[in-house]
This record gives sequence, structure tokens and C-alpha cells, in this order.
Amino acid sequence: MSAIDDSPIIGIDLGTTNSVVAAYIDGRIRVLEEQGTGLLPSVVGVSADGKLLIGQAAKNQLVAFPERTLASVKRRMGEAVNLKMADEEYSPQEISAMILRRLKDRAEQVLGRPATRAVITVPAFFDEGQRQATREAGELAGLTIERIINEPTAAALVYHAGQTGRRHLVIYDLGGGTFDVSIVRMEDGVVEVLSSKGDTKLGGDDFDTLLMENVAERFSSEHGVDLTENASTRWRLLQACERAKRELSQHAFTRVSEEFIAEVDGKPLSLDVRIDRHEYEELINPLVERTIRCVDEALNDASLTTSQIDELILVGGSSRTPLVRQRLLQELHHEAHWAVNPDLAVALGAATQAAMQSGASVGPVLVDVATHTLGIECARGSRFNPTIGYAPILHRNSPLPARHEDTFSTMFSDQEEAEIRVFQGESPNLQYNKELGSFRLSGLNKSAEADGSIVVRFELTLDGTLSVTAVERLTGITKSLKIRNALTSQSEATHDSAVERLGMMFSDSDDVVASEVGVSDAGIETGEGRVDGPHSTLLMRVEKVRSDASDEDAEDIDRLLQAIEEAEQRGDQELVDSIRSELEDLLFYIEG
Ligand code: AMP
Repeated sequence: MSAIDDSPIIGIDLGTTNSVVAAYIDGRIRVLEEQGTGLLPSVVGVSADGKLLIGQAAKNQLVAFPERTLASVKRRMGEAVNLKMADEEYSPQEISAMILRRLKDRAEQVLGRPATRAVITVPAFFDEGQRQATREAGELAGLTIERIINEPTAAALVYHAGQTGRRHLVIYDLGGGTFDVSIVRMEDGVVEVLSSKGDTKLGGDDFDTLLMENVAERFSSEHGVDLTENASTRWRLLQACERAKRELSQHAFTRVSEEFIAEVDGKPLSLDVRIDRHEYEELINPLVERTIRCVDEALNDASLTTSQIDELILVGGSSRTPLVRQRLLQELHHEAHWAVNPDLAVALGAATQAAMQSGASVGPVLVDVATHTLGIECARGSRFNPTIGYAPILHRNSPLPARHEDTFSTMFSDQEEAEIRVFQGESPNLQYNKELGSFRLSGLNKSAEADGSIVVRFELTLDGTLSVTAVERLTGITKSLKIRNALTSQSEATHDSAVERLGMMFSDSDDVVASEVGVSDAGIETGEGRVDGPHSTLLMRVEKVRSDASDEDAEDIDRLLQAIEEAEQRGDQELVDSIRSELEDLLFYIEG
């Protein structure tokens, strides 16, 4: 009989921004949802007619009626303060109890029976007073608190419950309002937090504010109106920027558009601003760097070096930010392990602990993830001395369904065609990865800027179907490729039969969708990435023969490449063609 049948213990992540409840059901740890979401905004309020509001309804009235609404109460836990809400005063424990009560009710509805026992998580830096306050909140909500566990411990349990052996993990937790990083040692089921560093005033909310200020500044310089002056307009803008921020985790650019957001001389003004991911990353970079310094300090405090770290686990909604993952990869040389939704990981861990406490034998939480990294071929470095490389677009372990896009540049300004070759695998060296398919994006605009001119989007569904779409941003020319079974192991079958088995399906569409696409030269891992063009086959041949060529031949190759570049810069196409053919002859001779 499963543990849930005799005595359900629920796991609760009582968060600053959102709270989540999970439980062990039929042999699996599950997040308990309401109206299609597991996240309950940690906001409490009182409506105009005196009704208690918890969650989204309270969040909706936060700006309009701040005197009747309370948010981010977690920051006040352990303080002897009274918080005012609609003329009544409440302790932080009482407000937290209302959120916990709501989660308890949700659990009872889903489980169909009373849920009176819980494991609750708290940040590793919470002191005894803050832990005690959390315990009290639980009891006020009618829960027996079986255990309070650290959030990083919970996150570690999600992946390693019941495993043996010693592992060191970095748990990087960037939420809406707080950041913390912990170094955790797991040994034969025992989890120990070796060090923890954080900043209780740093999170995704700050990213929203920076973006909002940037957008407001642009609007103000164009229209002379400050959108941040009026509280409700400011709120509307902030919400729009938060949405844009999420979009930028998946797309290379987005727009912040709000109709009739201001008025000048009785005339309504609308907002429509384009934001490229790299512009946004410049804004948030100082904040991301602050978190990276904390990671270094935490490693120092734990007396560990990066080479002793076995795994990096991302927690908190804001850890989805690509810049975060990119910086952590540079710093720790580890791809993040985020096989579960980062904003649900802590609750899943709490429920894992709860299940273990009930005597259930649970392993790591299983979710559907991308089993391989998927990307495209690209060239890096200078145009005339490129190296052919691999630009990952969807990373291994991304939860499914997954969607991500990056921007690439054509190699030459007069390029009319780009070949998109899709690969699966983990090696930076393309030849060790498996090619899944390819297609050509033809009819490119010759006068278009080469930089950031092509957006390549990968979408991977739960059934392993990969859709690759390439769009030229200026003209909107689009072409896509569908690959079935994109998750099949690389070791299976040979290249040719794999391609056949994958059942590639091309679909052409020349729809002009220019308004939906745009430029960004800020590819995440592929800032310098260039997709192949007419010269690229030639350049690949150069790449292949260069190592075998004599010094003299290599010098000749470089001289000719240089000459092509100069002729290109002068716009002398005839000369380009003639030097090209000279180079081709030379390559033919060396290859022979
Ligand atoms: P949490 O406190 O863990 O619930 O995290 C909430 C924060 O994560 C908020 O600031 C959200 O705006 C942010 N967030 C959620 N999804 C994304 C995303 N896809 N990209 C960037 N930030 C996100």
C-alpha cells in the first residue's frame, strides 16, 4: 500500500513570490495543481466586500488596493511585527498560515482525504526564529509539521533521493525576490549543506524593474511622458515587462506593447518597444554577476574547487534566464541539471522527504526531459579564418515540451542561401555528433545586414518530435523541418538509416512574418555563430586541408582568403569570383 493511503504527508514550498504543494501519489511525486497551475502566488488580501483573497485574486488587487493586500511576507517571518491589512493587524505567521491553509485545502481536494501532516521548506539561511515562525504558521493552518527542511536540501533530494555514493552539488536558487546558492554534500542519502550565500534583496523582480525603467526611458524620450509616475500605469508596464522578460528566455527578441497606456492633450498614446535579448542581458548583467560572486564565495566557504563539483542544479523561476545558465557554465564548467521545472523543484523535494518519512522508498523524481543536446552547425571566428563548430540550441535535460531560439549571422553580406544542418550530441566537435537532417533557407535578401539576420528556433515535444524553423528577420522568409524521434539514442543505427527512420518532413512556407521576427546578435552560446553560405563550402574545404597543407600552400590559402575579403569590402564581385576560382584550384591541387 502506498504511503499516501495510510497517512499522507504533503510537501510544501512556502515561497516569497509563489508557493507550491506536492505529494507522493501512486508511486510518483506530483505537484498538486489548481486551475492548471501548481504555483499559488504568495499574496493575501481582503476584497472590497470583506472577503479573504489568497493567491492570484489577491495578487490582482495588489496595486489597486495595497492597503488591503500583503505580499512577500516570507521576508518578515521571525520578526515581531504587525502587518496591516484592511484595518486589521496580523503577524507574519498568520498571513503565512492563510497561504498554507489554502495549499492544505488544495491537497485535500486532490487527494480526496484530509491532509494534516506536512514537510515545509525554508531557505538555508533562515535562523532558528524564522524556522520557529514557519512552524507556527503551519500549526495555525491546521498542519502538523513533521519536518522543516532547507530548500537546497529539498532540491538535491529531487535528483538524488535514495542514491548512494558521495556527490557535491551547487544549488543555485534565483527566485522572484531572493537569491541563494548552497553547496551541498550528499552521501548515502544524508544531505549536508556545506555553505550557503545569498542576497535576500535580489531576484527576478529586480530584472523586471530594470527592464521597466529602460522601456519607460525610451517612451519618455519619444513622448515626454513618464510612465512610472502613476502607480497603476507603472504596474501595467511592470507586468508587461515581466512577460517580456519570460519571452526573452526563449526568444532572441520580443516586444513590449500596451495599447493606450498614456494620454497627451487628450490623445491616447500606445507603447510598442522592441527588446533584443542582448540589450536585456546588458541591463541585468551586473545583477547576474553579483550572484556569480556569491557562488565563488560559497565554494570558498565550503573549501571546494569547481573541479570537485559533480552537479549544478537550478532552482527558482529566474534561473531560466539564459544569461544565468551561460555564466554558470563558464564559471563551473557544468551544464545545469534542471530536469524538473525550476520553480517546482523545492516542493517536489519536500514531498520526496515527506514520502521517505512515511516509509515509502522513492528514487529520484522522474520527468520527461531532452535526453540529448540539439543544435546546428555554425562557423565561428573571422569570416576568412573560420572554424566549423556546433551551436547547441536545446540543451540536454531541458524539461519537455521545450522551445528555444537563437540568432545567427550569414557569413557574407551578399549571401542568398543558408544551410541549416541539425545535429544531436554533446560534443563541441561536430564530427562526434549525429546529423539529424538539414535544409536550405533560400532567397535571402542580399542587401540585408549579415549580423543576426537569421533566427533559428527549436521546438521539441513530449513525443520527441523536433521542429526546426529558420526565419530571415528582414524578409520573414521561413523554412522548417520536422524530425521525428529526435531523442533516439545516438548510438543506435547508422547515419543513413537513422535519417530514414526519422522520417523527415519538409514544410515550406514563404509567409512574410517580418513583424514577428527581428534581429539580435546575441546568441547565447553562439554569439559569433554564422550559418553557412555560398563561401562556406569553400571555407569548410579550407578547414579540412589546412592541417595537411605545406607551409607554402597554407600561406597561399591565407593570402587568397585575405584578397577575397578585401575585394568583398570594396564590393568588387568580379575580383571576388576570380580569386575564389584561384583558391578553388589551389584546394583541388592540395586535396589531390
Ligand atoms: P519563484 O520565486 O521561484 O516562483 O520565481 C519567480 C520569478 O521567476 C519571477 O520573477 C518570474 O518573473 C521569474 N520567471 C518565471 N519564469 C521565467 C522565465 N521563463 N524566464 C525568466 N524569469 C522567469
